[in-house]
Amino acid sequence: MKKKKALITGYRGQDGAYLSRFLLGKGYEVYGADRAGDSGQWRLRELGIERKVKEIALDLLEPTNIIDALEKIKPDEIYNFAAQSFVLVSFSQPVLTAEVNAVGVARLLEALRKAAPKARFFQASTAELFGSTGSAQKNETTDFYPKSPYAVSKLYAHWLTVNYRQAQHMYACNGILFNHESPLRGEEFVTRKIAASAARISKGLQQKVAVGNLDALRDWGYAKEYVEGMWLMLQQPRPDDYILATGETHSVREWIEASFAAAGIKLEWKGKGLAEKGRDARTGKVRVEVSKDFYRPADVKELVGDAAKARKVLGWAPRTRFRDLPALMVQAELARLEGKKVNL
Ligand code: GDP
Repeated sequence: MKKKKALITGYRGQDGAYLSRFLLGKGYEVYGADRAGDSGQWRLRELGIERKVKEIALDLLEPTNIIDALEKIKPDEIYNFAAQSFVLVSFSQPVLTAEVNAVGVARLLEALRKAAPKARFFQASTAELFGSTGSAQKNETTDFYPKSPYAVSKLYAHWLTVNYRQAQHMYACNGILFNHESPLRGEEFVTRKIAASAARISKGLQQKVAVGNLDALRDWGYAKEYVEGMWLMLQQPRPDDYILATGETHSVREWIEASFAAAGIKLEWKGKGLAEKGRDARTGKVRVEVSKDFYRPADVKELVGDAAKARKVLGWAPRTRFRDLPALMVQAELARLEGKKVNL
Protein backbone atom coordinates (compact mmCIF):
# COMPACT_ATOMS: atom_id res chain seq x y z
CA MET A 1 0.00 0.00 0.00
CA LYS A 2 1.14 3.53 -0.74
CA LYS A 3 2.45 5.40 2.28
CA LYS A 4 0.16 8.14 3.54
CA LYS A 5 1.64 11.62 3.52
CA ALA A 6 1.12 14.17 6.26
CA LEU A 7 2.21 17.79 6.30
CA ILE A 8 2.66 19.40 9.71
CA THR A 9 3.11 23.16 10.04
CA GLY A 10 4.90 24.17 13.23
CA TYR A 11 6.41 20.68 13.45
CA ARG A 12 9.18 21.71 15.85
CA GLY A 13 6.70 22.81 18.50
CA GLN A 14 5.38 20.55 21.24
CA ASP A 15 2.37 19.19 19.35
CA GLY A 16 4.11 19.07 15.98
CA ALA A 17 6.97 17.03 17.42
CA TYR A 18 4.72 14.55 19.25
CA LEU A 19 2.45 14.19 16.22
CA SER A 20 5.47 13.66 13.93
CA ARG A 21 6.62 10.75 16.07
CA PHE A 22 3.10 9.34 16.28
CA LEU A 23 2.56 9.47 12.49
CA LEU A 24 6.03 8.08 11.72
CA GLY A 25 5.12 5.18 14.01
CA LYS A 26 2.00 4.61 11.92
CA GLY A 27 4.07 4.44 8.73
CA TYR A 28 3.31 7.92 7.39
CA GLU A 29 5.72 9.94 5.31
CA VAL A 30 5.90 13.12 7.39
CA TYR A 31 6.71 16.55 6.01
CA GLY A 32 7.34 19.44 8.38
CA ALA A 33 7.36 23.19 7.96
CA ASP A 34 8.54 25.57 10.66
CA ARG A 35 9.60 29.20 10.79
CA ALA A 36 11.38 28.86 14.08
CA GLY A 37 14.71 27.88 12.50
CA ASP A 38 16.53 25.41 14.68
CA SER A 39 15.13 26.61 17.97
CA GLY A 40 12.79 23.64 18.35
CA GLN A 41 15.16 21.00 17.02
CA TRP A 42 15.87 19.74 20.55
CA ARG A 43 12.34 18.29 20.65
CA LEU A 44 12.91 16.12 17.59
CA ARG A 45 16.29 15.12 18.98
CA GLU A 46 14.85 14.07 22.33
CA LEU A 47 12.12 12.10 20.56
CA GLY A 48 14.72 10.35 18.38
CA ILE A 49 13.15 11.46 15.09
CA GLU A 50 15.58 14.20 14.13
CA ARG A 51 16.28 13.09 10.57
CA LYS A 52 13.01 11.32 9.93
CA VAL A 53 10.78 14.30 9.12
CA LYS A 54 11.27 15.82 5.66
CA GLU A 55 11.61 19.54 6.03
CA ILE A 56 9.73 21.73 3.56
CA ALA A 57 9.79 25.51 3.03
CA LEU A 58 6.35 26.88 3.77
CA ASP A 59 5.45 30.13 5.48
CA LEU A 60 1.88 31.03 6.37
CA LEU A 61 2.63 34.65 5.47
CA GLU A 62 3.44 33.74 1.86
CA PRO A 63 0.63 32.30 -0.34
CA THR A 64 2.75 31.16 -3.29
CA ASN A 65 5.04 28.93 -1.29
CA ILE A 66 2.05 27.27 0.38
CA ILE A 67 0.64 26.29 -3.01
CA ASP A 68 4.08 25.15 -4.22
CA ALA A 69 4.51 22.96 -1.14
CA LEU A 70 1.05 21.42 -1.51
CA GLU A 71 1.54 20.70 -5.20
CA LYS A 72 4.88 19.12 -4.52
CA ILE A 73 3.85 16.92 -1.60
CA LYS A 74 0.20 16.21 -2.39
CA PRO A 75 -0.47 15.43 1.27
CA ASP A 76 -3.34 13.25 2.48
CA GLU A 77 -3.49 15.08 5.80
CA ILE A 78 -2.45 18.55 6.96
CA TYR A 79 -2.11 19.54 10.59
CA ASN A 80 -1.81 23.25 11.25
CA PHE A 81 0.15 24.11 14.40
CA ALA A 82 1.98 27.12 12.99
CA ALA A 83 1.03 30.01 15.24
CA GLN A 84 2.09 32.84 17.47
CA SER A 85 1.00 30.75 20.42
CA PHE A 86 1.72 32.90 23.48
CA VAL A 87 -1.30 34.67 24.91
CA LEU A 88 0.77 37.32 26.74
CA VAL A 89 2.82 38.18 23.61
CA SER A 90 -0.39 38.64 21.61
CA PHE A 91 -1.24 41.75 23.66
CA SER A 92 1.94 43.46 22.44
CA GLN A 93 1.93 41.90 18.93
CA PRO A 94 -1.74 41.74 17.95
CA VAL A 95 -1.15 42.33 14.24
CA LEU A 96 1.55 39.70 13.80
CA THR A 97 -0.63 37.32 15.82
CA ALA A 98 -3.55 37.93 13.43
CA GLU A 99 -1.36 37.63 10.33
CA VAL A 100 -0.18 34.16 11.29
CA ASN A 101 -3.02 32.73 13.38
CA ALA A 102 -5.99 34.15 11.46
CA VAL A 103 -5.11 35.27 7.91
CA GLY A 104 -2.44 32.53 7.74
CA VAL A 105 -5.21 29.94 8.02
CA ALA A 106 -7.15 31.70 5.24
CA ARG A 107 -4.04 31.43 3.04
CA LEU A 108 -3.64 27.78 3.92
CA LEU A 109 -7.29 26.81 3.36
CA GLU A 110 -7.44 28.71 0.11
CA ALA A 111 -4.26 27.04 -1.11
CA LEU A 112 -5.70 23.67 -0.12
CA ARG A 113 -8.92 24.36 -2.00
CA LYS A 114 -6.88 25.05 -5.12
CA ALA A 115 -4.03 22.56 -4.85
CA ALA A 116 -5.25 19.67 -2.68
CA PRO A 117 -9.03 19.89 -2.11
CA LYS A 118 -9.32 16.24 -1.09
CA ALA A 119 -6.71 16.50 1.66
CA ARG A 120 -7.94 16.34 5.23
CA PHE A 121 -7.24 19.42 7.32
CA PHE A 122 -6.78 19.76 11.07
CA GLN A 123 -6.82 23.18 12.72
CA ALA A 124 -5.40 23.56 16.22
CA SER A 125 -8.22 25.51 17.78
CA THR A 126 -8.20 26.41 21.45
CA ALA A 127 -10.11 26.57 24.72
CA GLU A 128 -9.05 30.23 24.87
CA LEU A 129 -12.01 30.86 22.51
CA PHE A 130 -14.34 30.39 25.47
CA GLY A 131 -12.65 33.22 27.38
CA SER A 132 -15.05 34.60 29.94
CA THR A 133 -18.06 32.40 29.36
CA GLY A 134 -18.24 31.41 33.04
CA SER A 135 -17.13 28.40 35.01
CA ALA A 136 -19.33 25.62 33.63
CA GLN A 137 -17.74 22.80 31.60
CA LYS A 138 -17.47 23.82 27.96
CA ASN A 139 -18.62 21.62 25.13
CA GLU A 140 -18.86 21.99 21.35
CA THR A 141 -22.08 24.02 21.65
CA THR A 142 -20.83 26.57 24.21
CA ASP A 143 -20.61 30.15 22.92
CA PHE A 144 -17.24 31.83 22.48
CA TYR A 145 -16.09 35.05 24.16
CA PRO A 146 -12.36 35.50 23.43
CA LYS A 147 -10.37 37.66 25.84
CA SER A 148 -6.99 38.17 24.15
CA PRO A 149 -5.73 39.09 20.68
CA TYR A 150 -4.52 35.48 20.54
CA ALA A 151 -8.01 34.13 21.18
CA VAL A 152 -9.60 36.59 18.75
CA SER A 153 -7.19 35.49 16.01
CA LYS A 154 -7.93 31.83 16.72
CA LEU A 155 -11.66 32.54 16.61
CA TYR A 156 -11.35 33.68 12.98
CA ALA A 157 -9.39 30.55 12.10
CA HIS A 158 -11.93 28.38 13.88
CA TRP A 159 -14.92 29.74 12.00
CA LEU A 160 -13.06 29.80 8.70
CA THR A 161 -12.33 26.10 9.11
CA VAL A 162 -16.03 25.47 9.77
CA ASN A 163 -16.88 27.60 6.74
CA TYR A 164 -14.58 25.71 4.34
CA ARG A 165 -16.16 22.50 5.58
CA GLN A 166 -19.68 23.76 4.99
CA ALA A 167 -19.29 26.00 1.96
CA GLN A 168 -16.45 24.25 0.10
CA HIS A 169 -17.25 20.72 1.33
CA MET A 170 -13.69 20.18 2.45
CA TYR A 171 -12.68 17.70 5.13
CA ALA A 172 -11.71 20.32 7.72
CA CYS A 173 -11.80 19.84 11.50
CA ASN A 174 -11.16 21.97 14.55
CA GLY A 175 -9.69 20.36 17.62
CA ILE A 176 -10.72 22.65 20.46
CA LEU A 177 -7.76 21.87 22.64
CA PHE A 178 -7.68 22.63 26.32
CA ASN A 179 -4.24 23.25 27.80
CA HIS A 180 -2.03 20.30 27.02
CA GLU A 181 1.41 20.07 28.52
CA SER A 182 4.48 17.88 28.50
CA PRO A 183 8.25 17.97 28.99
CA LEU A 184 8.34 19.32 25.41
CA ARG A 185 6.35 22.45 26.27
CA GLY A 186 8.12 25.78 25.78
CA GLU A 187 9.34 27.37 29.01
CA GLU A 188 7.12 30.40 28.37
CA PHE A 189 4.12 28.36 29.51
CA VAL A 190 3.47 28.20 33.21
CA THR A 191 3.53 24.41 33.59
CA ARG A 192 6.97 23.84 32.12
CA LYS A 193 8.35 27.02 33.65
CA ILE A 194 7.36 25.74 37.08
CA ALA A 195 8.47 22.15 36.49
CA ALA A 196 11.90 23.34 35.29
CA SER A 197 12.25 25.82 38.16
CA ALA A 198 11.20 23.31 40.84
CA ALA A 199 13.76 20.82 39.52
CA ARG A 200 16.56 23.41 39.39
CA ILE A 201 15.68 24.80 42.83
CA SER A 202 15.72 21.28 44.32
CA LYS A 203 19.27 20.85 42.97
CA GLY A 204 20.45 24.25 44.25
CA LEU A 205 20.81 25.64 40.72
CA GLN A 206 18.19 28.37 41.11
CA GLN A 207 16.89 30.34 44.11
CA LYS A 208 13.30 31.19 43.23
CA VAL A 209 10.78 31.70 40.45
CA ALA A 210 8.47 34.66 39.72
CA VAL A 211 4.97 34.03 38.34
CA GLY A 212 1.74 35.91 37.63
CA ASN A 213 -1.88 35.08 38.40
CA LEU A 214 -1.90 32.19 40.91
CA ASP A 215 -5.67 31.89 40.90
CA ALA A 216 -6.18 31.11 37.19
CA LEU A 217 -7.84 27.71 36.79
CA ARG A 218 -6.94 25.46 33.88
CA ASP A 219 -7.78 22.03 32.51
CA TRP A 220 -4.34 20.51 31.95
CA GLY A 221 -3.85 17.30 29.97
CA TYR A 222 -0.88 15.45 28.47
CA ALA A 223 0.04 16.63 24.96
CA LYS A 224 1.28 13.19 23.90
CA GLU A 225 -2.27 11.88 24.26
CA TYR A 226 -3.88 14.90 22.62
CA VAL A 227 -2.09 14.37 19.29
CA GLU A 228 -3.72 10.93 19.09
CA GLY A 229 -7.12 12.63 19.35
CA MET A 230 -6.14 15.03 16.54
CA TRP A 231 -5.23 12.15 14.26
CA LEU A 232 -8.50 10.35 15.09
CA MET A 233 -10.43 13.46 14.01
CA LEU A 234 -9.04 13.02 10.50
CA GLN A 235 -9.91 9.30 10.29
CA GLN A 236 -13.70 9.64 10.56
CA PRO A 237 -16.31 9.22 7.81
CA ARG A 238 -17.25 12.90 8.22
CA PRO A 239 -15.34 15.98 9.38
CA ASP A 240 -16.39 17.69 12.60
CA ASP A 241 -15.10 19.72 15.57
CA TYR A 242 -14.16 18.13 18.89
CA ILE A 243 -13.09 19.24 22.33
CA LEU A 244 -10.09 17.51 23.89
CA ALA A 245 -9.91 18.04 27.65
CA THR A 246 -9.63 16.16 30.93
CA GLY A 247 -12.74 17.60 32.61
CA GLU A 248 -10.75 18.64 35.70
CA THR A 249 -9.69 22.14 36.60
CA HIS A 250 -6.90 23.21 38.97
CA SER A 251 -5.30 26.51 39.89
CA VAL A 252 -1.81 27.68 38.99
CA ARG A 253 -1.15 27.63 42.76
CA GLU A 254 -2.05 23.93 42.89
CA TRP A 255 0.22 23.24 39.91
CA ILE A 256 3.08 24.94 41.74
CA GLU A 257 2.46 23.02 44.96
CA ALA A 258 2.30 19.68 43.15
CA SER A 259 5.46 20.41 41.13
CA PHE A 260 7.51 21.46 44.14
CA ALA A 261 6.22 18.46 46.08
CA ALA A 262 7.42 16.23 43.22
CA ALA A 263 10.84 17.86 43.59
CA GLY A 264 10.79 17.14 47.36
CA ILE A 265 9.87 20.65 48.52
CA LYS A 266 6.76 21.36 50.58
CA LEU A 267 5.58 24.93 50.03
CA GLU A 268 3.78 27.25 52.44
CA TRP A 269 1.94 30.32 51.16
CA LYS A 270 1.76 33.71 52.91
CA GLY A 271 0.55 37.14 51.82
CA LYS A 272 -1.96 38.36 49.27
CA GLY A 273 -1.85 39.55 45.65
CA LEU A 274 1.57 40.79 44.53
CA ALA A 275 2.90 40.25 48.08
CA GLU A 276 2.08 36.56 48.15
CA LYS A 277 5.09 34.28 48.59
CA GLY A 278 5.64 30.54 48.57
CA ARG A 279 8.28 29.42 51.06
CA ASP A 280 10.00 26.12 51.62
CA ALA A 281 8.17 24.89 54.73
CA ARG A 282 11.39 23.34 56.07
CA THR A 283 13.93 26.12 55.49
CA GLY A 284 11.65 29.19 55.27
CA LYS A 285 13.39 30.27 52.03
CA VAL A 286 11.24 32.10 49.46
CA ARG A 287 10.93 29.90 46.38
CA VAL A 288 7.94 31.47 44.59
CA GLU A 289 7.03 35.13 44.29
CA VAL A 290 4.48 37.08 42.30
CA SER A 291 5.45 39.67 39.69
CA LYS A 292 3.20 41.90 37.69
CA ASP A 293 5.41 41.16 34.65
CA PHE A 294 3.56 37.88 34.24
CA TYR A 295 0.04 39.24 34.61
CA ARG A 296 -2.05 39.71 31.46
CA PRO A 297 -4.12 42.80 30.69
CA ALA A 298 -7.08 40.38 30.73
CA ASP A 299 -6.86 36.78 31.84
CA VAL A 300 -9.21 33.87 31.42
CA LYS A 301 -10.25 32.97 34.97
CA GLU A 302 -11.30 29.39 34.57
CA LEU A 303 -11.32 26.74 31.86
CA VAL A 304 -12.66 23.22 32.03
CA GLY A 305 -13.75 21.11 29.10
CA ASP A 306 -16.16 18.27 28.46
CA ALA A 307 -14.68 15.80 25.98
CA ALA A 308 -17.77 13.52 25.89
CA LYS A 309 -18.17 13.89 22.12
CA ALA A 310 -14.54 12.89 21.47
CA ARG A 311 -14.99 9.94 23.81
CA LYS A 312 -18.18 8.80 22.08
CA VAL A 313 -17.29 9.39 18.43
CA LEU A 314 -13.50 9.04 18.38
CA GLY A 315 -13.08 6.65 21.29
CA TRP A 316 -10.54 9.12 22.71
CA ALA A 317 -10.07 9.67 26.43
CA PRO A 318 -7.27 11.30 28.42
CA ARG A 319 -5.24 8.84 30.49
CA THR A 320 -2.93 11.25 32.31
CA ARG A 321 -4.52 13.76 34.68
CA PHE A 322 -3.52 16.44 37.14
CA ARG A 323 -2.77 13.71 39.68
CA ASP A 324 0.24 12.61 37.57
CA LEU A 325 1.16 15.41 35.18
CA PRO A 326 3.22 17.84 37.33
CA ALA A 327 5.28 14.94 38.70
CA LEU A 328 5.82 13.54 35.21
CA MET A 329 7.14 16.91 34.07
CA VAL A 330 9.37 17.44 37.10
CA GLN A 331 10.82 13.92 36.67
CA ALA A 332 11.69 14.83 33.08
CA GLU A 333 13.44 18.03 34.20
CA LEU A 334 15.41 16.14 36.86
CA ALA A 335 16.43 13.56 34.24
CA ARG A 336 17.63 16.36 31.93
CA LEU A 337 19.67 17.92 34.75
CA GLU A 338 21.20 14.55 35.52
CA GLY A 339 22.00 13.88 31.85
CA LYS A 340 19.64 10.90 31.79
CA LYS A 341 17.19 9.88 29.09
CA VAL A 342 13.89 11.75 29.33
CA ASN A 343 10.70 9.70 29.34
CA LEU A 344 8.56 11.23 26.57
P1 GDP B 1 -2.45 29.66 28.27
O1 GDP B 1 -3.63 29.14 29.05
O2 GDP B 1 -2.39 29.14 26.87
O3 GDP B 1 -2.31 31.13 28.33
O4 GDP B 1 -1.16 28.97 28.96
P2 GDP B 1 -0.09 29.56 29.99
O5 GDP B 1 0.62 28.37 30.53
O6 GDP B 1 0.75 30.61 29.35
O7 GDP B 1 -0.96 30.26 31.14
C1 GDP B 1 -1.88 29.54 31.93
C2 GDP B 1 -2.37 30.40 33.06
O8 GDP B 1 -1.31 30.59 34.01
C3 GDP B 1 -2.83 31.82 32.66
O9 GDP B 1 -4.02 32.10 33.35
C4 GDP B 1 -1.70 32.71 33.16
O10 GDP B 1 -2.14 34.03 33.53
C5 GDP B 1 -1.27 31.95 34.41
N1 GDP B 1 0.10 32.27 34.85
C6 GDP B 1 0.46 32.62 36.11
N2 GDP B 1 1.78 32.83 36.18
C7 GDP B 1 2.28 32.62 34.93
C8 GDP B 1 3.59 32.69 34.37
O11 GDP B 1 4.57 32.99 35.04
N3 GDP B 1 3.72 32.40 33.03
C9 GDP B 1 2.64 32.05 32.27
N4 GDP B 1 2.82 31.76 30.97
N5 GDP B 1 1.39 31.99 32.77
C10 GDP B 1 1.20 32.26 34.09
